[in-house]
Amino acid sequence: MKDAVGREIDYLRLSVTDRCNQRCFYCMPDDGVELVGHADLLSFEEIRRVCAILTGRCGVSKIRITGGEPLLRRNLASLIRMLAELPGRAPELVLTTNGILLPGLADELAAAGLSRVNISRTRCATRFWLQYADPAPGCATSNSLSRPHTGRVSSL
Ligand code: SF4
Repeated sequence: MKDAVGREIDYLRLSVTDRCNQRCFYCMPDDGVELVGHADLLSFEEIRRVCAILTGRCGVSKIRITGGEPLLRRNLASLIRMLAELPGRAPELVLTTNGILLPGLADELAAAGLSRVNISRTRCATRFWLQYADPAPGCATSNSLSRPHTGRVSSL
């Protein structure tokens, strides 16, 4: 698949939720955003069907799972397993996350077929990582400014 100027498109960014447990000022206004209702989100089966077409017929070989904060999407490991088991050559599955929920989910996600994780290191998440983790050398991170999220964020 090529774009309008002939560049090869082999990479899909897949947003699985608009919810987040951070409030970076450039992303989330103080009074919040209007969230999409659960019924309006693509189901895992619908996502799998779209990805099967894009990987099977259109040359997509890498899928980056994003949000919002993708780890807030309930049963994300099930979706990753479904994508890892797509027919044909399995796409590389990459996750971009603020990392806050990662310690409790990392093993399950890896077992489901996740290839790689990119941690976007917001100020609050950085505090969390400094407290609980020793980032590996060469770990891909990016810095940003954020406010602590004071409301309750539930998984979808
Ligand atoms: S962590 Fe990412 S999705 Fe969440 S508020 Fe910050 S920029 Fe937005």
